[in-house]
Amino acid sequence: MASQIKRERVFGNFKPGAGQKLKAKSTKVSASERRDGMSKDHLASIRKCWCVACLPVIKKADHAHHLLSTKDRGMQIRSKDKDTVPLCFRHHEDLHRAGSKNEAKTFANWGIDDHLQLAVDLYRNTGNVKAMNAVIIAHKVMNAIIMDHKGFNDGGETKS
Ligand SMILES: [Zn+2]
Ligand SMILES: [Zn+2]
Repeated sequence: MASQIKRERVFGNFKPGAGQKLKAKSTKVSASERRDGMSKDHLASIRKCWCVACLPVIKKADHAHHLLSTKDRGMQIRSKDKDTVPLCFRHHEDLHRAGSKNEAKTFANWGIDDHLQLAVDLYRNTGNVKAMNAVIIAHKVMNAIIMDHKGFNDGGETKS
């Protein structure tokens, strides 16, 4: 009798709920992945990335902005979780204040060359925050190069 009670106490220390909880979570994830383009995991990854507007200042985004217009859907319909870009609270507010019509312009002002492609590339690297941040940097750097190139051409046709 006494040993039985003791065993129960030992089992109590194992936190029997933990295993169940883990299993329930993974089931939930796969279910959400099954819905096309929707993923709570991806949103969590996006929020861990750097704010695309703050760069080159490093600031964790904390917000996942659902693009107001997307490549395959146009405007109006709320975009899917895969069509998200990381932004800090302040820049997220700025973007929504600017409105959906000015979304592309706002991203361009932040030095993002193609915000739609940025979302696609981020989703391709989902779960790997380091790779996702590298994607953001690439989109910023490419834009700077393109802008420089345009300015260069405006000054006269110079081919080398
Ligand atoms: Zn920011
Ligand atoms: Zn938003």
